Amino acid sequence: MMVNEVTLILGGNKGDRMQLIERATILLSEFATILKKSSIYQSESWGGVADQDFLNQAMVVHTEATPMAFLAQIQSVELTLGRRREVIWGNRTMDIDILYWGEEIIQLPELKVPHPLLDQRRFVLVPLVEIMPEFVHPISKKSQRNLLECCEDQSRVEIFDHL
Ligand code: AMP
Repeated sequence: MMVNEVTLILGGNKGDRMQLIERATILLSEFATILKKSSIYQSESWGGVADQDFLNQAMVVHTEATPMAFLAQIQSVELTLGRRREVIWGNRTMDIDILYWGEEIIQLPELKVPHPLLDQRRFVLVPLVEIMPEFVHPISKKSQRNLLECCEDQSRVEIFDHL
């Protein structure tokens, strides 16, 4: 079986955000091996539609699933955690996006990897720089550190102090 190294971002801005990230982690570990996790970050809502700050965490996992099977698995975690998406970029309890699938480029109608918006989002790049600063984006060929340096997003992203 082929093992794939996949980078994800989890986030939510509704309900008990910390507990939802913990529950998502438990559910993810039922079908994937979690290798690395970033700190949890608090981020200003992106796109100006949502009203509460998000908590976000990036992770690197191993999976033997195909990309589409894995997408279905993470969507079942979103559903279990009660995500209801009323407005694009609006409030949600749990959103899980695939950022990278190794160095592969996936262009399916339901799945674009590397995630096409990742280089525009500080709330994605800041945690990525923490856990994989030198990883090279397979299309732009820039490291995560370099992507963050070039990112024009000004929104606030800070380590969440949950003590
Ligand atoms: P979102 O609201 O950002 O969670 O978008 C969900 C939809 O994006 C799903 O229906 C997926 O099929 C699609 N999608 C496309 N690319 C990705 C990706 N890299 N990770 C997760 N969902 C994706």
